[in-house]
Amino acid sequence: MQDAAHISEDLYGGRLTIDRDAIASNWAFLKSQLKPGTECAATIKADAYGTGLTGTAARLRDEGCRTFFVALPSEGMELRTAFPDVRIFILDGLFPGAAEIYADNRLVPVLGSLPEAEEWSGFCGGIGTRLPAAIHIDTGMNRLGMRPDEFVALMSDTGKTASFEISLLMTHLACGSTPESPMNRHQLALFSETTAAYADIPRSMANSAGVFLGPDYHFDLARPGISLYGGKAIDTVANPMKAVAMVAARVLLVRDVPKGETIGYGAAETAKRDMRIAVVAAGYADGLLRRGGSTDARPGAFGWLAGHRLPLVGRVSMDMIALDATDIPEGLVRRGCLVEMLGPNVAASDLAAYAETIDYEYLTGLGRRYLRRYQSLPAASTA
Ligand SMILES: *Cc1c(COP(=O)(O)O)cnc(C)c1O
Repeated sequence: MQDAAHISEDLYGGRLTIDRDAIASNWAFLKSQLKPGTECAATIKADAYGTGLTGTAARLRDEGCRTFFVALPSEGMELRTAFPDVRIFILDGLFPGAAEIYADNRLVPVLGSLPEAEEWSGFCGGIGTRLPAAIHIDTGMNRLGMRPDEFVALMSDTGKTASFEISLLMTHLACGSTPESPMNRHQLALFSETTAAYADIPRSMANSAGVFLGPDYHFDLARPGISLYGGKAIDTVANPMKAVAMVAARVLLVRDVPKGETIGYGAAETAKRDMRIAVVAAGYADGLLRRGGSTDARPGAFGWLAGHRLPLVGRVSMDMIALDATDIPEGLVRRGCLVEMLGPNVAASDLAAYAETIDYEYLTGLGRRYLRRYQSLPAASTA
């Protein structure tokens, strides 16, 4: 929001560093996990999960990625303006009355319902050009996608399907992060069965989790998102991806709090001993979720400084967070120094566990107030 050229970096409360080489390296890793012949696309909706839509796309394109998925046609337009030569799918489908704009910008709608398919078919018929579209088949999410019987009905109605090119058949996993869920096998079987008669049309099922579920789930194209950005796709195993984003927040002051006094709004946390507290200049307005705060009843998330873990104390404020620095060696936490609040030592998935959410929400919610930098991240501390 501010003009970085005119404001000294010392005047920001927090820094957000994004490592695009790490995103590229995560993409290459995911690609290496796919069965031979499966294309690795990239899902870059929601500003590439907070890492910057066109900048991230540019880096992935340099790495060899040629197919991108965004949610909205507005995102597709921004991407098309920057890159004339990539394939762009719009996951949210065809917006009503917008077919001509999709056509002009070569945005490929992922048709999620019969009315969308009819509108695309009518438009393509009208201009006499068989433009591509993907078809989303719902196999259990009940979110976007036609039901299998609707898909079969559409495919048998050549009057509708002859006027456009079906370039991809896709479905989306509801429980991919839980490999042992029977839902995965159920969706796989239903998708395979429903599309079996159309073996000449490329198919796609795998988001990040689907890549890790194994080759049965890979089909012709995978479309990972969260793993590119260092997130944890599978709940039950260690995350192999590189951290991509780091938030560091400035210490405003260090104070002593006597045992028995309370800390922060709502007096939600009581000092159980004499404490030393560091107050840092980032809060829920910066995307450090309020639900990650602590109370006397439950622990909160944490920050990290020079090999030491600093638990949150009390509620997260809009612009500030208090951290427990009682056990940190004297002099290490000082006014003005920076504490890692997310990054190589503070995984978004760890924060998410305290805030009863998922790392997707942390990454996509990082605020606009940070001093943003695009450079490599330090390695995780071994301390
Ligand atoms: C967001 C999304 C993806 C990417 O999912 P991740 O879990 O972030 O890998 C893939 N497909 C669809 C339909 C999506 O909505």
